[in-house]
Amino acid sequence: MLKISDLHVYYGGIHALKGISLDVPTGQIVTLIGANGAGKSSTLRAISGLIKNKKGTITYNDRDITTLDPVEIVKGGIVMSPEGRRIFPHLSVTENLYLGAYSRSDKDGIERDKEWVFDLFPRMRERQNQKGGTLSGGEQQMLAVGRALMSAPDVVMLDEPSLGLAPLLVKDVFEIIKIINAQGKTVVLVEQNAFAALKVAHYAYVLETGAIVLQGSGEELLSDDRVIQAYLGG
Ligand code: ATP
Repeated sequence: MLKISDLHVYYGGIHALKGISLDVPTGQIVTLIGANGAGKSSTLRAISGLIKNKKGTITYNDRDITTLDPVEIVKGGIVMSPEGRRIFPHLSVTENLYLGAYSRSDKDGIERDKEWVFDLFPRMRERQNQKGGTLSGGEQQMLAVGRALMSAPDVVMLDEPSLGLAPLLVKDVFEIIKIINAQGKTVVLVEQNAFAALKVAHYAYVLETGAIVLQGSGEELLSDDRVIQAYLGG
């Protein structure tokens, strides 16, 4: 279980997260929805060890990980696929994937996981020798998710994996999230696409201006009037 208690995040004078608490039980898909600037990315970045200016406690399997460095967080089994297409454009698809495994030394395991990622994203297999920068936007996003999976995480945090994708690819991404989860990964999903995210989520939190205003199972929130009005287009 990944557990956040009373987490505050500050950017200079901006109080971006105002004491949020949430639980991510092992084996589940937990989603965070909310408008732009609500604090979803900040939550993931704080868990990842990328934000130092924070207060509160983050524990993973009862171990306090609040102040660990990003590398230690990854070694501890928690990885984030960041928003946008943050791949290395001048490296090949395969090289990008290997970079995701930088914290590992089990060569056989790395090769196995590369094949697993290629099975999940057949496009990546087809384009394995192509430079990352020559992929389409959607493919680059898939590569970013694949690269995160290469660290052999227990918990995968995905920041807006469907952003800017064509509708067919959006469907693929949510299918893949379900498959990854069914294969044993715990998933924390940040999404603007609230409908699709709630559909796959075991549990969900709604963030507004740095605070959690609503929570429940994906199913409960899909039928909640406030969610329907604010996030599902009425
Ligand atoms: P988005 O989907 O737009 O990324 P979000 O819900 O993920 O939104 P955050 O990116 O976490 O929200 O931002 C939360 C708040 O913190 C916003 O008010 C944002 O402007 C502010 N913020 C985020 N990053 C920084 C930064 N590096 N410097 C200053 N303010 C920041």
